[in-house]
Amino acid sequence: MTDLFSLPAATAGPQLHVARRTFERLRSVPELARRYADCGAPRSLDDLAALPPLDKDALNTALAHLEPRAERGAGATWLFQSGGSTGAPKVGHAPTGFYMTGVHAQWQPLDHDDVFVNAWGAGRMWGAHFLAAALADLSGCRILAVGSVTTDEYADWLTFFAAAGVTAIGGTPSVLRLWFAHARAAGLQLPALRKVLWLGEAWQPQLAADLAAVAPRARRWGMFGSTETWVVGTNTPDCPADTFHPLPEQLVHVGAEDLLDFTTLNPDMLNPVLRYRTGDAGTLLACPCGRPGPAMRVLGRRDSVVQVRGLGLHVDELIARAEREPGVNRAQVLITEQRGRAATVELLLLTGPDGPADVERLRRDLLSATFTLSTAFQHDPESFRVRPVDELISNDRTGKTAGLVVREGS
Ligand SMILES: [Zn+2]
Repeated sequence: MTDLFSLPAATAGPQLHVARRTFERLRSVPELARRYADCGAPRSLDDLAALPPLDKDALNTALAHLEPRAERGAGATWLFQSGGSTGAPKVGHAPTGFYMTGVHAQWQPLDHDDVFVNAWGAGRMWGAHFLAAALADLSGCRILAVGSVTTDEYADWLTFFAAAGVTAIGGTPSVLRLWFAHARAAGLQLPALRKVLWLGEAWQPQLAADLAAVAPRARRWGMFGSTETWVVGTNTPDCPADTFHPLPEQLVHVGAEDLLDFTTLNPDMLNPVLRYRTGDAGTLLACPCGRPGPAMRVLGRRDSVVQVRGLGLHVDELIARAEREPGVNRAQVLITEQRGRAATVELLLLTGPDGPADVERLRRDLLSATFTLSTAFQHDPESFRVRPVDELISNDRTGKTAGLVVREGS
């Protein structure tokens, strides 16, 4: 059983006191007490594997009760959006520094000579911009904190980047694609660009074509994590894009149905991360880069979550939300893809005799309350639509009407 962990028992065992403390914290949460009633504090990896896994809802229930704070002298406690597809933003906590000293100790994509554009969006309680800033800070490079820009600003910024000798840029792959697509459209190149850092979505293979045109010498450097776990693993240009080397302070476990769960071994971690499942499936294997120790290959999602521009959209939650609306009998999500990427997401509403609901208000509400939609369609919000229809789309062969329909557009 223990060979399904990223660390051998001899290495992880002496650090399990952190997991035992997390266990006690979780067990102190009244709503979770029953989950852990029959469990003992984990003294071995087998004990750990026997604990119930934690999902986002349970973790957020725990955080609401525990209200963790950074130790005095360790800086502030930052609250960030941790996704959640509908309703109020769910929140994750981290101290100043965002645990990036542990990341920097094993992964240094940036060095003192780099000129780094931080293109992760800042504000709205998003974590990645600040996390990347902390890494850049540790590397001692020059930092251009650009964040997100509007469509008509790309060309000017890209011209500035070229003149400033930008050597590195970081963002979610969807955002990076926008930058490189605008550069290609404007005929701009970034000849000094060597490094593309990414986090927050799966790598998009189309980025290789973008890079070949805009920055032929640039190579990708990836991080994998979530706002609950923070950075779990990293990779280099020599690793496959879906394979990451776990940090020594992150214990990765492959459970039932290949679902990955994560347990922090970092005593400073504020979120109670104990067998936390992101919904990603994966496997542990040797990385072709040759670095010793098991690497984590991420295989994608195993729940009712569909990938929209690299972000997970909870289809069932979105439908349930729409069907609570007065006048809506049934709802269906229609995703139209172009070359494998979601061009539009439409929510189709089968309305009752009372007439259609207030479609535009519902659209606005869903867009602002759904983290995946507001982020994925940040630059083209009109690509998320809500449309009353006379009938939903059925499968002609089976006669079934699924909650999700994915079509290839023209
Ligand atoms: Zn590797």
